[in-house]
Amino acid sequence: MSIWFTEKQTANFGITMRVKQTLHTEQTEFQKLDMIETEEWGNMLLLDDMVMTSVRDEFVYHEMVAHIPLFTHPHPEEILVVGGGDGGVIREVLKHPSVKKATLVDIDGKVIEYSKKFLPEIAGKLDDPRVEVKVDDGFMHIANSENEYDVIMVDSTEPVGPAVNLFTKGFYAGIAKALKEDGLFVAQSDNPWFKGDLIRNVQKDVREIFPVTRLYLANIPTYPSGLWAFTIGSKKYDPLAIPADRFHDIETKYYTKELHQAAFVLPKFVQDLVKKA
Ligand code: SAM
Repeated sequence: MSIWFTEKQTANFGITMRVKQTLHTEQTEFQKLDMIETEEWGNMLLLDDMVMTSVRDEFVYHEMVAHIPLFTHPHPEEILVVGGGDGGVIREVLKHPSVKKATLVDIDGKVIEYSKKFLPEIAGKLDDPRVEVKVDDGFMHIANSENEYDVIMVDSTEPVGPAVNLFTKGFYAGIAKALKEDGLFVAQSDNPWFKGDLIRNVQKDVREIFPVTRLYLANIPTYPSGLWAFTIGSKKYDPLAIPADRFHDIETKYYTKELHQAAFVLPKFVQDLVKKA
C-alpha cells in the first residue's frame, strides 16, 4: 500500500508525493518536524507539514540565497544566516574564500540535529571551523546586533509561528542596523502565485530602508507553485552592477554568472507586484 504526503499550498491546491518511509517525526518546542524519504526527491525535511528542503532539489534554493549576495558584495567576510538550520546555505557560503566567519542562528536545535542525521549532504558543513551555530530567536539576535555583518541571509520558514516577526519592517530596520555601512541582505520571499501581497509588502518595506532593493526568482519544484522569490536589500552595492572579474569559479549546479543577471528579469505579473505603489 503506497503512502503519500500532501502539502496543502493553498486551501484549494497542493503538492503530493509518494513516501518510501518516515525517518523521524516529533513535535518540537516550535513546530512539527518530519523527516521523510520520498521516491522522487530523496530525503526531505518538513516543518508544520510544509516542504523545507529535499536532497534532490535543495541546491537551487541554497545556491541562489548565497551566491547572489556574496558575489554582489566585493569583500564578504562576516556573514549571518537567520534560520537555515538544515545547513544548506552555510555549505554554499563556505565556498567563498573571503568569508572569515559565518554565524547561523536557528530557533530550533532539533532542525539542526535531525538535518545532520538525515541530510548529511546538506548539513555537512555546520561543523566547519569558520561556522558558529547558535540556537536562538533570529529576531532577538538581530535586535542585539549593530554594525557587525557584511551580508545577512534570512532563510526562515513561512511568516507563521516562530518566523512571523521575520517579515516585518521592524526586522528589516534591525537588519540595516546589524549590517556594516556597506552591507546587504537577502530574504526568501515566498512565491508570486500565491503570496503576491507578501512580496509587494516586503518590497515596499525594504525599499523604504535600503537604497538598492530588488527581487529575483528561481525554479524550485518542491516549493509552492515552483516559482520562488528572493528580496535583496543593499546599502551600497547593486547586484546588477558587478564587475566581470568579481566572479570566481565555485562548484554549483544551478547558479551561474549569467543566471545572476537573468534571475532579476521578472515576468510582467511579477513586475506589477514590485513596481513602486
Ligand atoms: N528554505 C526553507 C524555506 O524557504 O521555507 C527554510 C528552511 S530552514 C529549515 C527554516 C528555518 O527557520 C527552520 O529551521 C526554523 O526553525 C527557522 N526559524 C523560524 N523562525 C525563526 C526565528 N524566529 N529565528 C531563527 N530561526 C527561525
